[in-house]
Amino acid sequence: MTSKDYYKLLGVEKNATKEEIKKAFKKLALKYHPDRSPEDKKVEYEEKFKEINEAVSVLGDDKKRQQYDQFGSAAFSGGTGGAGFEGFDFSDIMSQFRSESFGNFDNIFDHIFGGSTRSRGARQRRGSDLLFETEITLEEAYSGVEKTVPLNKLEVCDECLGKGANKFESCHHCKGSGYMKRTQRTPFGLFQQTGPCPYCHGRGELPQDSCHSCGGEGISRKKKKIEVSIPAGVESGMRLRVKGEGEVGENNGPCGDLYVQIQVKEHEFFEREGNDLHLTVPISFSQAALGDEIEVPTINGKAKLKIPAGTQTETIFRMQNKGMPSVHGSGSGDEMVKVRVEIPKKLTKKQTELIKQLKEEKPSKSFLKNIFG
Ligand SMILES: [Zn+2]
Ligand SMILES: [Zn+2]
Repeated sequence: MTSKDYYKLLGVEKNATKEEIKKAFKKLALKYHPDRSPEDKKVEYEEKFKEINEAVSVLGDDKKRQQYDQFGSAAFSGGTGGAGFEGFDFSDIMSQFRSESFGNFDNIFDHIFGGSTRSRGARQRRGSDLLFETEITLEEAYSGVEKTVPLNKLEVCDECLGKGANKFESCHHCKGSGYMKRTQRTPFGLFQQTGPCPYCHGRGELPQDSCHSCGGEGISRKKKKIEVSIPAGVESGMRLRVKGEGEVGENNGPCGDLYVQIQVKEHEFFEREGNDLHLTVPISFSQAALGDEIEVPTINGKAKLKIPAGTQTETIFRMQNKGMPSVHGSGSGDEMVKVRVEIPKKLTKKQTELIKQLKEEKPSKSFLKNIFG
């Protein structure tokens, strides 16, 4: 087994950076590309091409480079040139070179190096959540309401259904299976494992064009309206989660969620406290003194309220179940009606006369008893 000097093969220093290695590889790969070889040098070029690929697949990977520096090329190549490195059969790489245009060297380089930021299907990411704020009236909060939420979000492209292309052909690297056997020679032995094909990312097919609608990304930003059902009883600050209506995930990752944040507008008469509603109504002095039945507004109409004789100002009456429904669906709050006895600011002649008479009236015995005990 002869030890190969990968650094020398690529024409770089032993302490070359990854960038320098990449650059050197590109230059040599272009020069020795089998499709460019002169007729009489075909074998020579092909051999050279294999060698630089082998060199870059080791030096381009930090871990393998370290192993190589320690053990030499014997750790990687059987010396026959036939053994694949991490499943990268070099004839396979060459067919990849042939099928890709020359502008796509970065892709191939990324394949060899194993990590590509561009490769689709490699890293799944959940889509972003979206937040939409909406304001509703107290009446709407009482009965529940349907709201239209306008969205402008990333969705799966309908042109290519998220595939990024419209024309596909069976992946020739894995023969359409989507899987590849990877053989790794290490100083400790030969390891073989089956993993997803790095070219088609386990899909078994390769795109032959790029979707013009989404530029091959498989996703595009779209305006969309969705109906959200806001349940009865919601309170300000509550957030509704609409599962899966956020942005679409990257590389078939799950969609994010949409959150609808509710703001309930202040009401002209009612004040809300939990599920109870508070209301203040004016009543006259005579209604308070003599008692009456009055009509008071409720959140969904009107109700009758009995004012007993002798009602004091600021008395609170509870009207059961006339408040807001519980958002959890269990019962309702009450309506609390506070009465305020209004003292008239202006009196007619007759009213003045009557009140004067009232003034001369001696307080009742029980009234005195209450004061003096
Ligand atoms: Zn494949
Ligand atoms: Zn598309």
